[in-house]
Amino acid sequence: MIEASDLTKTYFSRRGLLGRPTAVHAVDGISLTVTQGTTLGIVGESGSGKSTTGRLLLGLETPSAGHVRFDGEPMPALETAAWRKYRARMQLVFQDPLAALDRRLAIGAQIGEPLTIHDVGTQAERRERVTTLLQAVGLRRDQENSYPHELSGGQRQRVVIARAIASDPQLLVCDEPVSALDVSIQAQVVNLLRDLQETRGITMVFISHDLKVVRNVSDRVAVMYLGRIVEEASSKEIFRAPLHPYTKALVSSVPVPGTALKDRIVLQGEPPNPAARPVGCAFHPRCAVAITRCRTETPALLPAAAGHSAACHLVHGGQPVTAVAETMPE
Ligand code: SF4
Ligand code: MG
Repeated sequence: MIEASDLTKTYFSRRGLLGRPTAVHAVDGISLTVTQGTTLGIVGESGSGKSTTGRLLLGLETPSAGHVRFDGEPMPALETAAWRKYRARMQLVFQDPLAALDRRLAIGAQIGEPLTIHDVGTQAERRERVTTLLQAVGLRRDQENSYPHELSGGQRQRVVIARAIASDPQLLVCDEPVSALDVSIQAQVVNLLRDLQETRGITMVFISHDLKVVRNVSDRVAVMYLGRIVEEASSKEIFRAPLHPYTKALVSSVPVPGTALKDRIVLQGEPPNPAARPVGCAFHPRCAVAITRCRTETPALLPAAAGHSAACHLVHGGQPVTAVAETMPE
């Protein structure tokens, strides 16, 4: 349904007035497929390129290289009529619901906005639709007259979600949708997104720095590190049998039953800096099991088991790494 191949986004940042522009590889040649009606979770620390990946998939940014295809069609050039049509089929929900909402407008009007813009139905039908949407996200009918500041953070994110699904999008990209919410509210909003995705058959990309948040909502999970996918598998396999040392560290920090790793693996060293990507395996300065080769040779993302890929020399048993980054298996 949505496919990215060799997707790359490079920024140039200049340090100081006379500094040379430095290339920052925010996203560095990733390939992924999200099958229609399923959810791909993308997990990584800040600076791993997950948000940029989401924006590239939505056509909000032009890739420096590589392609995105949606339903087999290539993404049209930014801001063209074809692009607006493409964009109309997808929606973004991000971290801060207050920033996404208009403080001066009642929430009913905001939820109905996409219907008005796209001229869907009569005014009465649109009002009816807003009521249905309020109910779908667990808000009361009379709350349509409330203003954003009268609602809690969790309720505001429900409003944003209602508005995002108002136009019946085929793809929903959620970028840290619950990170700004109280932990006690997070599960409710995640469950809401999962239910809406399931009942409406929406294809979803769910981005989070928190592996336990994506766990219950994702069919498949891609783990990103410094602009690349380092492991990709079904959500179940990622937790049951993580292969990449970075994923193992993430999984070991999640205190849930059914986690394969009993001992906590603490990540050492500095958090990743996209402007100073280590050569070889980008994870090697923090990897507890790195071998000499890891400092010079970049491991490719290769299948390690059915439907399970990893980019680590140890996983692939010291075989020569000649293959180019593999597209994720279906
Ligand atoms: Fe660690 Fe080497 Fe595997 Fe990278 S390739 S994760 S440094 S063992
Ligand atoms: Mg981000």
